Amino acid sequence: MTDVPIVLATWNHGVPATERALAELTRGATAVDAAERGVMVVEADCPDRSVGLQGWPDRDGIVTLDAAIMDDTGRSGAVACVRGVAHPIALARRVMDRTPHALIVGPGAEDFARAEGLFTGTRPLDAVQDAAWKDWLRERQYRPRANSENHDTIGMLVRDATARLAASCTTSGLAWKMHGRVGDSPLVGAGLFVDPKAGAAVCTGLGEVVMRKLTSCIAVERMRAGASPAQACREALQRLIESGPLDANVQVGLIVLARDGTHAAGALQRGFTYALGTPGGVALHEAIAVA
Ligand code: ASP
Repeated sequence: MTDVPIVLATWNHGVPATERALAELTRGATAVDAAERGVMVVEADCPDRSVGLQGWPDRDGIVTLDAAIMDDTGRSGAVACVRGVAHPIALARRVMDRTPHALIVGPGAEDFARAEGLFTGTRPLDAVQDAAWKDWLRERQYRPRANSENHDTIGMLVRDATARLAASCTTSGLAWKMHGRVGDSPLVGAGLFVDPKAGAAVCTGLGEVVMRKLTSCIAVERMRAGASPAQACREALQRLIESGPLDANVQVGLIVLARDGTHAAGALQRGFTYALGTPGGVALHEAIAVA
């Protein structure tokens, strides 16, 4: 068992998030604190517009956000379809720490954000969001595109130097989704999962595919049954392929971290990048494609 911290995070924007999480761990943060604060970097600034209030809106021109956090004591918290909250991951953390619930959605989550001082206010679309939405309205077609900015997510896995594990996930979901649509990201077992004995996993990609197959849970359960992270990753993705023909544009990316610090990443298709951080530095990798 290694005793150095390890952080993994999805996509290119995983790099600054991982740097922040490692810095937090160096300052003595716990795994769950690092997982929360790391992804907040991307919630605050996401140039590809797939996370946070700058994310692409739904088909009604409204930005709604989903987030979840889980630690290795079995605790979790999540929010879904929230507006006006700059840091939904912090709100998910408050759900975990301060309520008896696991998931709070919509106006109820916004009321809770107000009570917790985390409601930052709804605002009109910015010029870039507005232009992209109006462009989309011309055709009004929803077509998933693999590895494109019409979906992404920041998902993170952290193992601190005491081998505690945590996972976090935050997203604006699919661009141009129906209003009220929620994906896999805030759902324990689908978008993320942590098991104290086996390890942790986070997914990104087309939520409708992941939430029907509980891909993160399957990956962690395979490790619990003795599979390596690489095998677990492959088998969880294989289950998606076996479940029926998938559109050629469907992408799902998966990162997996075992309790002992070994790790793996995989995806249905090429193009899924992830950041890997250790005290030696942060590097961007491309995951192996299984399809
Ligand atoms: N999984 C997210 C969702 O379906 C989007 C993504 O990760 O690409 O909302």
